[in-house]
Amino acid sequence: MEEFTSFLPLAVGVVSQEGVVVDTNEAFTQFTGYENSEAVGNPLSYFFVETDTLDNILTSLNESPGTERQAKLTLKTGSGSEKTVRVTIGIRHDIDGKMSGYFIGISNVFESNPPPAPKPIDKTLDEISEEQPEEAEPSEDNVEDAAESVIDQQDKNRAIIDGVRDGILVIDNEGVFDLINQRATEMLSLERDELSGKPLETLSDREELAPLVTQINSEDDETTKMELGEDTFEVSVHSATVDDSVYRIVTLHDISRDQFIEDMKLTFVSVAAHQIRTPLSSIRWSLEILANQLEDEEQKEVARRGYRSTQNILEIVNGLLNLDRLQSGEDQYEFEPVDVIEVIEGYVDEVRDHNKILEQPEIIFETPMDPLPKVRADRDKLRIVFRNLIDNALKYTDSDGSVTIETSVHVTDDYGNDIVEVSVADTGIGIPAEAQEKIFSKFYRADNATSMETDGSGIGLYITKQIVDEHDGTIWFESAEGEGTTFFVRLPMSQTQD
Ligand code: ADP
Repeated sequence: MEEFTSFLPLAVGVVSQEGVVVDTNEAFTQFTGYENSEAVGNPLSYFFVETDTLDNILTSLNESPGTERQAKLTLKTGSGSEKTVRVTIGIRHDIDGKMSGYFIGISNVFESNPPPAPKPIDKTLDEISEEQPEEAEPSEDNVEDAAESVIDQQDKNRAIIDGVRDGILVIDNEGVFDLINQRATEMLSLERDELSGKPLETLSDREELAPLVTQINSEDDETTKMELGEDTFEVSVHSATVDDSVYRIVTLHDISRDQFIEDMKLTFVSVAAHQIRTPLSSIRWSLEILANQLEDEEQKEVARRGYRSTQNILEIVNGLLNLDRLQSGEDQYEFEPVDVIEVIEGYVDEVRDHNKILEQPEIIFETPMDPLPKVRADRDKLRIVFRNLIDNALKYTDSDGSVTIETSVHVTDDYGNDIVEVSVADTGIGIPAEAQEKIFSKFYRADNATSMETDGSGIGLYITKQIVDEHDGTIWFESAEGEGTTFFVRLPMSQTQD
């Protein structure tokens, strides 16, 4: 015990079950003025003026020993003076867990005084830094200084957090706002008082903030975009555990400027693509006429090459326009019962026209004898899906290869509804194993594709997948490098067939 308590800065006494002091530590002697030998053997009432209060504390501890009790008492010090102190008394147990007496801790009473006015500084910074700090005497003033320094530290932390350019909100495990920095109040157009100590749901009073509450309440740590008036924020929420309590920490990052630049870029791409498409179409048309009319085989080949390049650029431009429309969200889907065969045939006819000029792989599509059930689709978007798949199959297959399109019907969904499947198979370069995972990502092109065909944007399949997803369909492929590729698309049939 002696070993344990001697290094404690707090004055501690060990008290028997009868209320008699049986041991004290070094700090006890310094604090009270009683040597260990003077203190031991005296009842607690010997040291304090308010003996009734002491008795009450011991009685209440015996009745409900759960937590320690604290009281402000007057200490009769060893030097004969009196001093107001804070006394903490708790139950002591023996190794079997049975009550064996009490511990008493004695400390200075700390009154929360207003901080002193700052002293005028009449020294230079160098003079201040040369001054040696004075040796601190353990006194009541020092305790107050320590408390002030804690308050100073809190003010400093608050100033730092308020200086952060991102908004920060901290919600405790009771769902109550624990901390809100200045920037967060500006971003949410709220006063700190409106949130401090209030439940998170207070935010839901403003309809536009309800999604933020949902995000904070969700178990997941996630990042989303939130629009508030003219501003766009990136909202990140994550959990942090402090002293067994889980806090939700919310960061609001202003991305209004990034969003503005992104919108400008999209607008520029869209305007440029629109402007380029019309003259390109007329160049392609001129080259087509030229290729058909020229007699000389060499000259004919030059015109063909020009035609092919123009066709490739047109595909890229169309891809950019589709991407722009999809991303801007302007392009609404209009679903109706659509005959897949009609859509595919329409494009296959166009390709066969091109094939009269270009040397392209043979395209095989045999219309099935029985009509297919109509699928629930947006006709124009579905055309983009099959155009992209067929164009890719043609582009990544040598001209002596072939592209085969087949359709079939499956009864696979849980309600027994038909699903229409279309496959586009080629005998081309295939998709390397290491590229297969990334093939539907925006702007991704496999190495074997870029070396075979330099023109390409890597957005065709990304758009295709987005459209198939919007149709509640599925898309996948089977491929081996050098052996060809087959893409499969499945689309649910329409509930109405007319
Ligand atoms: P692009 O064809 O403009 O490069 P896509 O998004 O249409 O862009 O296709 C992405 C990539 O997928 C292609 O660059 C190519 O690597 C691969 N790919 C798509 N279809 C095929 C195919 N039929 N055969 C081989 N590779 C293909």
